[in-house]
Amino acid sequence: MNARNELKEIFFKTKRLISACEEMGLEAPMLPKGALDFMEKPVSKNPALPSEQCRTSGKADPEIPALEIPPPETQTIKPASPSFDSLEDLRAHMGDCRRCDLHNGRNTMVFGEGNPKARLVFVGEGPGFDEDREGRPFVGKSGQLLTRIIENGMGLTRESVYICNVVKCRPPGNRDPNPDEIRVCLPFLKAQLSIIRPDVICALGRVACQALMGGDFKITRHRGEWHTYEGIPLMPTFHPAYLLRNASAKRPVWDDVKSIMGKLGLEVK
Ligand code: URA
Repeated sequence: MNARNELKEIFFKTKRLISACEEMGLEAPMLPKGALDFMEKPVSKNPALPSEQCRTSGKADPEIPALEIPPPETQTIKPASPSFDSLEDLRAHMGDCRRCDLHNGRNTMVFGEGNPKARLVFVGEGPGFDEDREGRPFVGKSGQLLTRIIENGMGLTRESVYICNVVKCRPPGNRDPNPDEIRVCLPFLKAQLSIIRPDVICALGRVACQALMGGDFKITRHRGEWHTYEGIPLMPTFHPAYLLRNASAKRPVWDDVKSIMGKLGLEVK
């Protein structure tokens, strides 16, 4: 076994040991002090993802009610249109969307942003107050944390990945989007994913996980495990808004981030 594989095995054994400790209610081994501090620090300018690494082409309780979304294989709504071959076409098709009631309270539709050829796509739940004002995903407090994870933690840039949401308009008062709103908007997320075809999807929080993996998906049970959405590896992890309120979630999220980096063949710096 070469050194790299040996290290990998040690890593996964340690991870299994930590999960086993946690399951048994035992204290897991500690991370070195300060190991997760990057999540607190402002984003510094990191080099962009090298071009050869690019493809060429919540909230407080993570586990509140299950969404009544059928598992993907039984969903009757097909992707918005399989024929869109660019995000611009899809965005144009959505137009001044009024397909669900969320349009009544929104200022701006938040379609998503980033590299249309991204190897990594983050999927959140829906725009909040700041996103609705700016028309950009993840720009408020939880967005700033997501940016720190991407830039300080992963050493990537926001521009090199793609960031979008399950619903494109802000639910009033930042409530969770309801099943009807999700059913109407989900085809657009699916179309985005089928246009980008990233190497990895990171689903942030319960709503995104359940929208893509089925309504009975339990994030607390399955985060950190690899799943597959339409043949694309999907990593479920906690939503940054949950992370802001639960410092203890930082460590599992960091584990998930490292797992994503591994899947992408990128080094954690
Ligand atoms: N939370 C989300 O899920 N998406 C955003 O764009 C912002 C906050």
